Amino acid sequence: MAKIPIDLSKGEVKIAKAVHDNIIVGIDLGTTNSLVAYVQDGKPIVVTDHTGKNALVPSIIHFNSPMDVIVGTEAAEKLLSDPQNTIFSVKRLMGKSYQDLEQHKDLFAYQIIDNDTDNGLVKVRIQDNFYTPIELSAKILAQLKRRIEKTLDTIITKAVITVPAYFNDAQRQATRDAGKLAGLDVLRIVNEPTAASLAYGIGLDSDTIQTVAVYDLGGGTFDISILKIEHGIFEVLATNGDTFLGGDDFDRAIQQHWIAQHNFDTSNNPVLQQTLRLEAEKAKKAISKQDHYTTLIKGQMCSLSANEFQQLVQPLIDRTLVACRNALKDAKVEKSAIDEIIMVGGSTRMQLVQDAVQNFFEKAPNNNLNPDEVVAMGAAVQADILAGNNQDILLLDITPLSLGIETVGGLMDTIIARNTKVPIKAGRQYTTSIDGQSNLKVAVYQGERDLINDNRKLGEFVLRGIPPMPAGIPKIEIHFLLNADGILKVRAKELRSGVEQTVEMKPTYGISETEMGKMLLDSIKNAKEDMAVRALIEAQTEANNVLLSTGKFVVQNQAILSAEEIDQTKTLAKALEKATKGSDKDAIHKAMEDLNEYTTPMAHRAMDHNITNAMKGKKMNEQ
Ligand code: ADP
Ligand code: MG
Repeated sequence: MAKIPIDLSKGEVKIAKAVHDNIIVGIDLGTTNSLVAYVQDGKPIVVTDHTGKNALVPSIIHFNSPMDVIVGTEAAEKLLSDPQNTIFSVKRLMGKSYQDLEQHKDLFAYQIIDNDTDNGLVKVRIQDNFYTPIELSAKILAQLKRRIEKTLDTIITKAVITVPAYFNDAQRQATRDAGKLAGLDVLRIVNEPTAASLAYGIGLDSDTIQTVAVYDLGGGTFDISILKIEHGIFEVLATNGDTFLGGDDFDRAIQQHWIAQHNFDTSNNPVLQQTLRLEAEKAKKAISKQDHYTTLIKGQMCSLSANEFQQLVQPLIDRTLVACRNALKDAKVEKSAIDEIIMVGGSTRMQLVQDAVQNFFEKAPNNNLNPDEVVAMGAAVQADILAGNNQDILLLDITPLSLGIETVGGLMDTIIARNTKVPIKAGRQYTTSIDGQSNLKVAVYQGERDLINDNRKLGEFVLRGIPPMPAGIPKIEIHFLLNADGILKVRAKELRSGVEQTVEMKPTYGISETEMGKMLLDSIKNAKEDMAVRALIEAQTEANNVLLSTGKFVVQNQAILSAEEIDQTKTLAKALEKATKGSDKDAIHKAMEDLNEYTTPMAHRAMDHNITNAMKGKKMNEQ
């Protein structure tokens, strides 16, 4: 029987909140704003605050004391009144060292610290405490977690979090760690442009083959990504952009225009600075809908016409177009080959930006969805797929082709079979085939054929420094880890000595869906022949091992064998050797059996002899 706790102080029956394991949320952890979304009845819903209007949580953290921390709009209000204790743009610090950031350190009003105790990663000093960017991001994530838990009245433990496509492994890992710290199991890190495409439904239909440009102009950063989407697999062909170009620069251009026009003295006047900044942002947002904007600042009438605005910001917009051109060039894609353009980020609401993008690509961009919510919505769509609520599109998280290694005779030994759900870990033990072998080549292949020559080679490496041991004694474990981002880690480890080596490869790199399809088809067409070849090679390999051990046996046990026995063994061994040269696997098996049958009684005799000798206190032959 279930126990129901009773709160004795209030005399209430407490019912614990249910943990909803099947709700996986999508989170856009942005530089300027963050938000959380989930899917209900097949539709992504962005979670708002108690007013029901604001979905965006400013990515700003204010520390009154280590125990008194606020996140979001309230924290944003502290930017000017208490800048040292108010942290913004944490995302720029993720996975970075102090050296990476030194040249930009003036941009941060708070103190960033070179902390060499912790593998050189940067820390932020707030009062007398030091925080890692992971800890700070975790505070934002915890706020989002609280928000959705309140809305849904349930405990949420699983999330998908988005990151820019150019984030490296360290930055992705830092994002995962931040999630964990906030009490979230991060099931997947998804690229922001991929999420935006998913929100538009692109890639959900497994037949689609499309090339998509995602233009993302946020508050402080600009990213352009060219994606190739084939049968549910998203590949980033190229990314470009500017990590110091965003809506804030548009605001700054307007502020400077007014300062010059009205001779404002902003030095030592934080209130005026703040007012100018806020009014400039208002003017920027208004000007897309009206020709003229006016406002009163410090008793002066500040105005902005659509023309003036264009003059001020055209250079900024042009910089984004240069990045677009470079991205297309890197992706080796012509403008005309872009099927869809997706607008992401609050700053793409500006009419000037939309027009510029449309002119550049000569095609109307997709902007029906709220540009600052589209990434979170897409993250929720991906989360819903992971939760298994959308059975049709599991393609996204399975491996399309088998992965394995080359074994003796050029055979493919599959370690991760195709259609396995990722992430997946799998391993198998191998051994050496030559006495004293100190190096082992590990060649990794992808494909369904039995012979590695018919499969696609992903890479190879050599495990060196195996201590000399007789053939068959070393225990070499080959371990494959295929993570959700499609990266395969291959580790080879000799278990007796601990010698190991790890390499990483990307199986989906450089292979198209068509090629994959062809490989699958070939494997089906050739299945019968492949099986026969495999059986022959396996028989040959086994025969070679038998011949090797028979040779050793004769040399080591000459003393107890008769001349006739040695002769007959040699004759049978010759016959087996001859059979292995041919292509009749049954003949090989027959010759192997003949030899085995003849030598088995001799082997028993040798064993008895050795045991007797050992009992007499003599040393045993080394086997
Ligand atoms: P990030 O992805 O960097 O966290 P967002 O996508 O939330 O940022 O974009 C924030 C930026 O969008 C801010 O600079 C804000 O001023 C700008 N923005 C929001 N709405 C509008 C609008 N209607 N017109 C122009 N800019 C806007
Ligand atoms: Mg963003």
